[in-house]
Amino acid sequence: MFRTDRATGELNLGASKSDTAANVARNRRLFLTELDTARMKLATLRQIHSGVVREVSAAQKEPLRGDGLITQHAGLLLGIQTADCVPILLIDPDNRTVAAFHAGWRGTVKRIVERGVGLMRMRYGSRPEELLAAIGPCIGACCYSVGEEVVSEFHSQFCYSAELFREVYDLDPVKQKYPMLFLTARAPGHSNLGPQTHLDLVEANRRQLLDAGLKKRNIWSSGECTACNPEKYFSHRGEHGFTGRMMAVVGIR
Ligand SMILES: [Zn+2]
Repeated sequence: MFRTDRATGELNLGASKSDTAANVARNRRLFLTELDTARMKLATLRQIHSGVVREVSAAQKEPLRGDGLITQHAGLLLGIQTADCVPILLIDPDNRTVAAFHAGWRGTVKRIVERGVGLMRMRYGSRPEELLAAIGPCIGACCYSVGEEVVSEFHSQFCYSAELFREVYDLDPVKQKYPMLFLTARAPGHSNLGPQTHLDLVEANRRQLLDAGLKKRNIWSSGECTACNPEKYFSHRGEHGFTGRMMAVVGIR
């Protein structure tokens, strides 16, 4: 269950190189028992940073590829695995429909959550103004520096993209005083010294939910940054890739 060699594997819920399949299976059982959902079947995905949303009625033996799940079936628990990316859960209480999405920057550019709401409308008659959304802990705008390719992808897709980025200067006093010491530490174009561009993935997904017709008051966000809270959350960035996965789940009993 727990790794002791690095402080990164505690209650890891996702298959990754940093843990064994047996550990993950045992951790998932503990997790579901703790949530009092041990009798429900867990449906997860082989997440591929896509815009693919799957409608499911049963847990698959081999997880489907994709980054969104929708179901109306009671007893099925939809699980999204993250360690910095944004987990988003949707509930349609009127229609008893639930959905879960994995949105990193790629899935966000592909509008996975906007597409998901569209699918709920089309296939299940969901009314967006009735939907409740929860955005889980993910890497915050405080920590999520991105490269130019990410900025240009967002600019090409969203008219409000400028509102999703901010310039952040490195406030490390040592680096400011002795910039020459750090000039060679990084590849060209990736200097720590100039302003870094930070992306607000929560806001990006909140905008998509609003555009899809959700009410502002029906969108809840944890507001916590995974990279700022490594003692509490797994963070791919914060732990340099060697980390576990958290899981966000939603289902109908
Ligand atoms: Zn942070």
